[in-house]
Amino acid sequence: MNMIDPAQIRTEFLRRQEEQRAISWKAVPAIAVMLLAEYALPCPLKALAMWGAIIWVGYILYQSWRNWRCPACEKYLGKTISHVRCPHCHTEF
Ligand SMILES: [Zn+2]
Repeated sequence: MNMIDPAQIRTEFLRRQEEQRAISWKAVPAIAVMLLAEYALPCPLKALAMWGAIIWVGYILYQSWRNWRCPACEKYLGKTISHVRCPHCHTEF
């Protein structure tokens, strides 16, 4: 869905920015699991925990890639979280 109303675009951009922050927080337990697997788990569990954490991180990256898009043109906004305008269609947020 493409939006044209600037107020609507701003609201949606802020919602997605908030969502993006929430998504990056979800990576913290995955990193904790990886460290735990590396230093504290016995061998068969280690591999399982590692794979679990890798799939987890992959899913987070996918969510982030799906969420972090310009509300006006739906193009991916890249690694920066603080945009003033869209680098693709130049819509102001
Ligand atoms: Zn755009």
